Amino acid sequence: MLVDMHLHENTFSSDAKHGLKEIVEAAKARGLDAICITDHDSMGLKDFAEQYSKEVNFPIFVGVEFFSLQGDITAFGIDSIPEERVDAQTFIDYVLQQGGVCFSCHPFRNNNRGLEENLKSVKGLTGIEVLNGSTSQAANKRAFEYCTELRLMPIGASDAHDLEQVGKYVTWLPNMVYNLNDFIAEIKKGISKPAVWEDDGYTVVD
Ligand SMILES: [Zn+2]
Repeated sequence: MLVDMHLHENTFSSDAKHGLKEIVEAAKARGLDAICITDHDSMGLKDFAEQYSKEVNFPIFVGVEFFSLQGDITAFGIDSIPEERVDAQTFIDYVLQQGGVCFSCHPFRNNNRGLEENLKSVKGLTGIEVLNGSTSQAANKRAFEYCTELRLMPIGASDAHDLEQVGKYVTWLPNMVYNLNDFIAEIKKGISKPAVWEDDGYTVVD
């Protein structure tokens, strides 16, 4: 399956321009099988997104993009986030204890919100965004190198705040899944590949 694992929606991400309906339409137009909503420090869309997902028969997995003291981490499989900013390791442990999974997003983007060298000291990350749609090629390349060295799962995600960006980069997973629990179980198998939108379809990066 192909899934965009990092998207913002305008109800709870004030810097995003589009609503869930438009995101789903854009994702479907590119042939995606599912999307993830990872708003900044909010899981407020969860109930609505679950209901809307059933309504339109399109998988929507709600996680979060949590701004830890060392940088942004996307997580899936938790019901709520810590009430204040905590360090990256504390957040990762919190997610793992609940059976969830964590990804370092845009670790080397030049906005001081990536884990950067902390990638090497934190324990328990599931994977790294090696293709992030709002990040330079050089920073993505560096993320890819760290991901390979650390033997973590490489994922792609658009991090779209604009509709045109939805699905720019996505993640290939071996099996189709339809709900959040199965999505997390699929991730825990440890097999993923980033994929790139190229005019009329996706190219999976090996
Ligand atoms: Zn983001």
